[in-house]
Amino acid sequence: MRTAYEVSRGTLYNERIAFYGNVLAWLVHFLFCILFWRLEVNSLFISNGLSVAYYTISFYFVHKRWYGIFFTGLFVEVIYNAIISTVILGWEINIHYFILMMAYGVFFMPSVSRGQRILTTALAMLIYSLLFTYVSDGIETLPIHVEQALGLFCILSTVMMIAGLSFIFESAVVAVTDELELSNERLQILASTDGLTGLLNRKVGHERISEAIEQTTRDGVPYALALGDIDRFKSFNETYGHDCGDRVIQQVASTLSDVDGITVRWGGEEFLIFLSDPSDDFYETIEQLRRHIETTYLDYAGERLRVTMTFGLAVRSGFDTIEEIVKEADDYLREGKQNGKNQVRST
Ligand code: GH3
Ligand code: MG
Ligand code: MG
Repeated sequence: MRTAYEVSRGTLYNERIAFYGNVLAWLVHFLFCILFWRLEVNSLFISNGLSVAYYTISFYFVHKRWYGIFFTGLFVEVIYNAIISTVILGWEINIHYFILMMAYGVFFMPSVSRGQRILTTALAMLIYSLLFTYVSDGIETLPIHVEQALGLFCILSTVMMIAGLSFIFESAVVAVTDELELSNERLQILASTDGLTGLLNRKVGHERISEAIEQTTRDGVPYALALGDIDRFKSFNETYGHDCGDRVIQQVASTLSDVDGITVRWGGEEFLIFLSDPSDDFYETIEQLRRHIETTYLDYAGERLRVTMTFGLAVRSGFDTIEEIVKEADDYLREGKQNGKNQVRST
C-alpha cells in the first residue's frame, strides 16, 4: 500500500520528469555530438552518438510508461558517459559531477526500494572515488576556452538538476500536505456535525458545552441550558411522511441556530441550547425563539404546517455538570408538555 506522498511524488516524477528529462538528455548529447565531431574527438563523437540513439529509443519507454526501464537506462547512461568523458577529457572537465547528481537523484526514483537506493548511491560514490583517485589529465586535449566552457556547463547543469529535482519533490510534499489538511477539515466537520441539520451533534455538542460551562464559571458569568422538543412531531411523520418530518427538523434547527450561543441536535427532534450573557434575560431569549417557531409556517405538499415547540430552561450562576443541568431542564420540559405544550418552563 503506497502512501499519499508516494503516489503524488510518483505522479509528478513520472509524467513530467521522464518526458522533459528525455528531451533534454537527447538535445545535450546531440549538441555534444556536433561539438566533438568539430573538435575531431572521435571517441566522444561516437559515444555521444550512441547516447543520442539510446535517448531516441528511450522516448518509447516514456511513451509506454516503462519508468523502471527508463530510469535505470538514464542512470546507466549518465554514469557511463561521465566515466568515458572524464577518462578521455580529464578531471578538470567536471563531468564527474553528474555522478554525484545521480547519487542524489536515485533517492527520488519511483518504485525503487530503500536497499536498492542505498546500493546504487554507494556504487555511484565508489565510481566517483575511483575516478578521483586515478584520473587527472585526459587522453585528449581540448582548446582552453572549450575546456573552461564545458567545465562551467557541467557544474551549472548539475546544480540546476539537483535544484529542479528538489523543487519537484517539494511540490509533491506541498500538494499532499494541502490535500491532507483539506480532508482533515472535512472529516472534522463530518465528525462534529449532524448531517440533517448541520448543527453540532450530541457528542461534540456535549464537549463544547462542558468547556463553555467551565469557561463561563471561571468568568463569573451566569449561564443557562434550554432543552427544546418539537410538539406532536410524530403526527408530521405519520400524516405527511418521514421527509416532511425531516423538513420540520431542518426548519426548527435553522431558527435555533440563529441564537447567540451553542445549539446542539441533542436527539431526534430534541435540541439543547447553551446561553451565557451577564445582561441576558435567558427566559425572554427562549420565549422569543418559541414565538418565532410558532409563527413560521412550513409549506409542505401544498399545505401550511404550523410547528410549535416546548422548552425547559435551567439557569445557573456557578459550576454544575451538564448532566445535572440537562436533567433539570428535562423536568421543566416535561412539565411544559403536560401543561399544554408550546411554552417555556423555568424556575
Ligand atoms: P410530544 O409532543 O410529546 O413531543 O410528542 P412527539 O410526537 O413529538 O413524540 P416523540 O418525541 O416521542 O416523537 C419523536 C419521534 O421523532 C420518534 C421518531 O420516529 C421521530 N424521529 C426521530 N428522529 C427523526 C428524524 O431525523 N427524522 C424524522 N422524520 N423523524 C425522526
Ligand atoms: Mg416531541
Ligand atoms: Mg422527543
